[in-house]
Amino acid sequence: MAEEFEYKEGAEEKVLIVKYGEIAVRGNNRKFFIERLLRTIRKNLDGMGDFYVVKEQGRLILEDRGGEMDFDKVIPKVLCIMGIIGVSPGVRVKNQRLDNLKKVCADHLREVGVDDYRTFKIETKRSNKKYPMESNAVSAAVGEYILDEFPSLTVDVHEPDITVYIELRNDAYVYSRLIKGLGGLPVGSSGKGIVMLSGGIDSPVAAFMMAKRGVDVEGVYFNSPPYTSERAKQKVVDLADRLTEFTGSFKLYVVPFTDLQLYLLEHVPHDKLTIFLKRAMTRVACILGERDGALAVITGDSVGQVASQTMQGLHAISAAATMPIMRPLAGFDKQEIVDIARQIGTFDISIRPYEDCCTIFVAKHPETKPKTSVIEKIEAKLTDLDKYINEAVENAEIIEL
Ligand code: ATP
Ligand code: MG
Repeated sequence: MAEEFEYKEGAEEKVLIVKYGEIAVRGNNRKFFIERLLRTIRKNLDGMGDFYVVKEQGRLILEDRGGEMDFDKVIPKVLCIMGIIGVSPGVRVKNQRLDNLKKVCADHLREVGVDDYRTFKIETKRSNKKYPMESNAVSAAVGEYILDEFPSLTVDVHEPDITVYIELRNDAYVYSRLIKGLGGLPVGSSGKGIVMLSGGIDSPVAAFMMAKRGVDVEGVYFNSPPYTSERAKQKVVDLADRLTEFTGSFKLYVVPFTDLQLYLLEHVPHDKLTIFLKRAMTRVACILGERDGALAVITGDSVGQVASQTMQGLHAISAAATMPIMRPLAGFDKQEIVDIARQIGTFDISIRPYEDCCTIFVAKHPETKPKTSVIEKIEAKLTDLDKYINEAVENAEIIEL
């Protein structure tokens, strides 16, 4: 005989039901992903309440023990986290007696407001099989009650204007809306990558896009004091900090690039300088990334955008890499990149007017079709290059955000 269902007592509480992509978090690392999601949620909601999270299958249930949850404030801070499919503002129901479920569903509809709706449906899911009624019976009984309470509503089980969901679990949950999130994969579920993060518009967008595919991104910024200022560096730190809203945390290397840059300025043909600079940056990024277990370098390059981003330029730069380079914006127009930058809130930081290390000694007429073999031949003669590269790596500052 089935065990008897034990009814609990207790008042209802507002909760936010957070749904994440279950398939993405299957396997050994499941616990790790969920912990990371939790950490990111906690970080984004810091100071906004006393939040408590219960883990249920495929979802997290968020409640504010400091008072009634302010959904308007909380929801945007949760929806922006990678891997979250969507959220449902709802109610947790401890007392799962049918009469109480009826009342809670009616209250929920009153709170949501039914003026815009003419038809409804109740959909019950019974995960707790000990519950003494079948899902359909619960839906029918609650539906009857709603019909009585709201004379303006009729039932439409095929295309209702609003569906009220009842989930019978350890406690019951009642909600009616799923507000879509960013989707993507939880950060960390796809291995690590190191993004070359300048203060520009493109590279933060590139970082965002790879993070959306679950890549755990860290960053490297090449700093050329005194040619670039402390404020230029701060801009990159602010961008990295902004990215943590999506990813939870961000490790940023700030690499002193001045000596290496001046060395190259002195020793390579000026019209090819940018290519050599980018190759040197790439090599440093590969070494730093490799140490942390990164599997790819990520950049904000977009084909044809500037002289060094021609197919030939990108070929010559890529040849210096010891791991794959991912360029998620390669096929994007500037406007498309700007649109995303605005959406993710990096645009306003990126357009602050500070200098970039690659533009300070830039040639008037940079080579647009460099030959990789020619570049490599010149580079082979730069006997001190390795020394400068190693120095840059060893003197990198680490900022944990
Ligand atoms: P962004 O808007 O990202 O600065 P951009 O259009 O200005 O890109 P470039 O300056 O040619 O283009 O840079 C191409 C890519 O090289 C950048 O997207 C970034 O990934 C990397 N990069 C350029 N400068 C730096 C830097 N100072 N530190 C780290 N990475 C850099
Ligand atoms: Mg730039």
